[in-house]
Amino acid sequence: MVEGLKGFHHSATFMTATSRVFVPSVTEENGNTIGLGVFSTEETAWKVLRQFIKKSHLMSLTRSDLVIWEVDLIGEEGMTVLSSMHCRDCPVCKRRTFWIDLETFSAMCTGQACEAWIEESTLEPGIMDLGWPPTRFLKQTDSIEKALSELADIGAQLEAAGNTPNQAFTSIPEE
Ligand SMILES: [Zn+2]
Repeated sequence: MVEGLKGFHHSATFMTATSRVFVPSVTEENGNTIGLGVFSTEETAWKVLRQFIKKSHLMSLTRSDLVIWEVDLIGEEGMTVLSSMHCRDCPVCKRRTFWIDLETFSAMCTGQACEAWIEESTLEPGIMDLGWPPTRFLKQTDSIEKALSELADIGAQLEAAGNTPNQAFTSIPEE
């Protein structure tokens, strides 16, 4: 009897675990939403979404969403938004490839040879880490606005050095 209950409990847990699906999508400037598939794990859904937004310089995207759906549940109750990101012009390379998540204070440029990023410090909440990999630039600020303006400064220096968005960064300003 006890064994039977245990068995029931286990299969119920298993069913709960498999009745959620992860659905990434992106939205174009004209409001059109492109579904990227339905996945059984969060990891795969993220992988698919990250892969897709690498192409964002070729498209006019405004946002991305990663949503969990509970299978067989009617209506919006079955839906949980896991992440929403907005696509903006990158403060460094100026391409429309800068994905920003205002909920988690994180941002990343998916433009080739740029990859400017901002992330809230895991050690000090409220502190923003930011960086620009091509020069190994790293800095901390106490707000996302300041982090964005630090990146904009790098963009201004690049522009002054004669780089345009679609070129590789050939001359990189020194500190
Ligand atoms: Zn960029």
